[in-house]
Amino acid sequence: MNDKETFEDSKETTIEEKNDNIKQETENEYEDICYICRRPESRAGRMMKLPNNIHICSECMQKTFDTINTNGVSFMDMANFNPAMFQMNNGVDDVPKSQKIKKKKPKEEKEQVFDIKSIPSPHIIKGQLDEFVIGQEYAKKVISVAVYNHYKRVASNTMDEIEIEKSNMLMIGPTGSGKTFLVKTLARLLNVPLAITDATSLTEAGYIGDDVESVISKLLAAADNDVEKAERGIIFIDEIDKIAKKRNTNSRDVSGESVQQGLLKLLEGSDVEVPVGATNKNAMVPLTTVNTRNILFICGGAFPELEKIIKKRLNKQSSIGFSADLKDKYDNDPDILQKVSIEDLREFGMIPEFIGRLPIIYTLEGLTQEMLVKVLKEPKNAILKQYKKLLLLDEVDLEFEEDALEAIAQKAIEKKTGARALRAIIEEFMLDIMYEIPKDSNIGRVIITRDYIEKKGAPRIELRGSNNPKLIGSNLN
Ligand code: ADP
Repeated sequence: MNDKETFEDSKETTIEEKNDNIKQETENEYEDICYICRRPESRAGRMMKLPNNIHICSECMQKTFDTINTNGVSFMDMANFNPAMFQMNNGVDDVPKSQKIKKKKPKEEKEQVFDIKSIPSPHIIKGQLDEFVIGQEYAKKVISVAVYNHYKRVASNTMDEIEIEKSNMLMIGPTGSGKTFLVKTLARLLNVPLAITDATSLTEAGYIGDDVESVISKLLAAADNDVEKAERGIIFIDEIDKIAKKRNTNSRDVSGESVQQGLLKLLEGSDVEVPVGATNKNAMVPLTTVNTRNILFICGGAFPELEKIIKKRLNKQSSIGFSADLKDKYDNDPDILQKVSIEDLREFGMIPEFIGRLPIIYTLEGLTQEMLVKVLKEPKNAILKQYKKLLLLDEVDLEFEEDALEAIAQKAIEKKTGARALRAIIEEFMLDIMYEIPKDSNIGRVIITRDYIEKKGAPRIELRGSNNPKLIGSNLN
């Protein structure tokens, strides 16, 4: 009899459980909403679940605790914190279904170009980079070999006496030469998570600004909080030259030398405790441990004035002894940056331990006019190709004359921000085209001329079904 009862019981629970599961499944389709600020999960981030189906976002939770703290309520009182105080509607989730937001369907995994376990040889990696990045042959070669070695090291994961050194890199190049772009392209091809941080936002722990560990939190976020995935990701720290040791300062250098010191253990490889879903540790965010041993660190910076330091050293060397050269031999050397040595970087203000942990140092060249023209039209997702595609949707053919492209590149060079200036320049004059063309459905082709770029004339416009170009675009001037 007893046995039967138990059996009945278990049967009932199974049915109940089943019902619960079905209920949960349908509820899972909808986003949780913060009980206080009413924002959905997709905007407010991870929610904390309280009993009675109440959800609170971490920001509101933090605010609540801050208020409690500033009002002098002790931590012990907080421990007695009763979620029922939020309960107004008998604990029933008070958001009608019509106001709930459906969760986005998880994105399908992108097709992977490379498999980390069978990482292709450097020339194949470089070949893929070539499709996106113009010039920078040396940098692409170095980065391909370094990445190949790095992921071979990750895949082999051997910890015997011959440990392969980490291939962390230091990239030196003028602004807009493609440093960030190169790293972004690489991470996309490898399908590994990438975090990009600005070294200027980092400070020593305890000071205003982000702790150095925040770079790992960012990577974790980029890896959808998957620790294993984050542990083989890439971290790009931009503006690294801005954390050079400050000269002539008596105060504590919390954003310079101390940040370099703080980064040492991350670069080397260590277990770091990081907050999940936030960049600063506080009582409310959960912590997790990430090992940085297999994370590839790439640091980049423009290092202004570094050329002067290199020149000074080279001039000093060449003016000593029998082989003394002319003093101004290096003054007009365009490749001076490539002659950089560790000594120069130390002189610049990077501490030796820091440079020591970035064994691969290379430079990127400033883009010439010729290269800028190529940047405009050649990469797989080139700006011109994007505009062409946009106009093609209106069935209008967009063409650029070669000397128009040269004029754009010239303008970009004057701005001295490398390829970054290109988009702004193009956007400026494409605005009128994008505005005017859809007005007239007879227009079949637009040809951008040098005169138009130099604001001396109009673009050439051809009507549909005619081969005679007409200058009817005077209003596009
Ligand atoms: P920085 O060297 O300052 O990090 P970025 O990588 O951010 O410069 O470059 C800005 C933009 O210019 C990129 O998004 C990319 O579109 C373009 N760009 C820069 N250099 C190149 C290059 N060598 N080839 C193709 N596009 C480039």
